[in-house]
Amino acid sequence: MKSANIAICGAGIAGIATAWSLAVKYGQSKVVLLDKNQPMSLTTSKSGENFRDYWPQPCMTALTRRSIDLMQTLADDSKDVFEMRYSGYDFVSESKGREIFPSDQLQDPGNAGNILRIIGNDQISATQGYLGSSIRQLVRFEQAGAFDVHALGSLMLKHARNAGIELWRAGVENIEKTSKGFRLSLSGDLEFNSLDTEKLVLAPGPFINELVGMLGITLGVESIMQRKFIIPDPKDVIPRDMPFTIFADPQYLDWSDEEQELITADPDYGWLLEEFPAGLHIKPEGAHNIKLGWAYNREPSVPQWETSDDFDFPNITLRGASRFIPALTQYVHEPPTPIVQFAGYYTRTRENLPLIGPLELAGLFTASALSGYGTMAACGAGELCADWMMGGDLPQYAPYFHPDRYADATLMAEINQVESDGQL
Ligand SMILES: Cc1cc2nc3c(=O)[nH]c(=O)nc-3n(C[C@H](O)[C@H](O)[C@H](O)COP(=O)(O)OP(=O)(O)OC[C@H]3O[C@@H](n4cnc5c(N)ncnc54)[C@H](O)[C@@H]3O)c2cc1C
Repeated sequence: MKSANIAICGAGIAGIATAWSLAVKYGQSKVVLLDKNQPMSLTTSKSGENFRDYWPQPCMTALTRRSIDLMQTLADDSKDVFEMRYSGYDFVSESKGREIFPSDQLQDPGNAGNILRIIGNDQISATQGYLGSSIRQLVRFEQAGAFDVHALGSLMLKHARNAGIELWRAGVENIEKTSKGFRLSLSGDLEFNSLDTEKLVLAPGPFINELVGMLGITLGVESIMQRKFIIPDPKDVIPRDMPFTIFADPQYLDWSDEEQELITADPDYGWLLEEFPAGLHIKPEGAHNIKLGWAYNREPSVPQWETSDDFDFPNITLRGASRFIPALTQYVHEPPTPIVQFAGYYTRTRENLPLIGPLELAGLFTASALSGYGTMAACGAGELCADWMMGGDLPQYAPYFHPDRYADATLMAEINQVESDGQL
């Protein structure tokens, strides 16, 4: 039997950022960070590693801004070890009038220097020649870009361990409430199989329902598998300095008559003829590759530790991408190889806001449901979780992410009035 003041279950980017904040901001050292596997090997390793401070929900803007500020300080202090780049986001649309993620930010004069809006295809083609002639609107966000999440997590982990925090390779198999806190039953190669802790943070990514379930708690969280892939770009379709580019329109895919017939004949594939959501995204990756993702799956599933490739996904996504970057059509039928696919879960609440703060048992906290934005929001989320745990000053956005927010009808009415959930 071992004991700790604080145990954190999950060394994904959320658990690591919480450990880092507890160590660096609050000087806590009797903290144990537990993971069944290698740190950051689950959802975090699947991240597209993009960041933005542009959100339909003002609370998300505030959280990601704080997170980006914390990342910027870490980047400056570490001589840019995780390669944080403000390479921008370009939202493109075939409609001059489409509201791109309806948000007060577009109207806010304070953002004038950070948001560029170009209307009309002639102006857009003059600078973004790779975009199709159907594109009529481009909105660029400057406070956005990409970074290396594994390097960021390794840096925060190093700071936390230097401050005395321990990282253990152990699975949490069961949790019991005790008079002083919690007793965790552990699996793995440790010489002991349980840990008593006064405070417990649950940051287990897609396994949050399983972990809270050990304590009889239910949360409104679902996990939905999403994918991305990397392929070579032998025909240099995508300029190396192209911002992360997102198609802001829903669309129907373009199928030949023969393909349509085959699809119609098989009821399992009928969905390919339905409308696909906005949000397909593409960016250059390294010197010769491109990375594409499209969170069109909307079906929750029970999370699994292992995932497999979906052989239709690259073809579907390349078809969708050729709608706004026509030269990609040449890759639709013969995609360049190797195709490297990544699959992980967007673990999310219905309104797509995370759960950060105290749960219903004293001493129990969570930093979870970070959906498709957990790597960009991790530093802010970890700090907020640590603020709750240590009784620190809470930022104005704290109540919006409180796991018990559903009991506050006024707050929920405000949250629910925002139409878009900001998912990409
Ligand atoms: C395809 C894809 C693209 C994405 N792109 C972006 C992006 O561009 N930008 C962005 O900001 N976010 C992106 N995300 C989202 C981001 O990756 C996640 O929100 C984030 O990684 C979640 O981190 P986490 O620490 O909560 O979970 P995880 O990384 O899943 O970490 C949870 C950890 O808990 C451990 N664990 C679970 N159960 C137990 C247990 N019982 N005992 C011990 N350990 C346990 C696991 O082993 C794991 O290491 C993307 C996600 C996907 C799937």
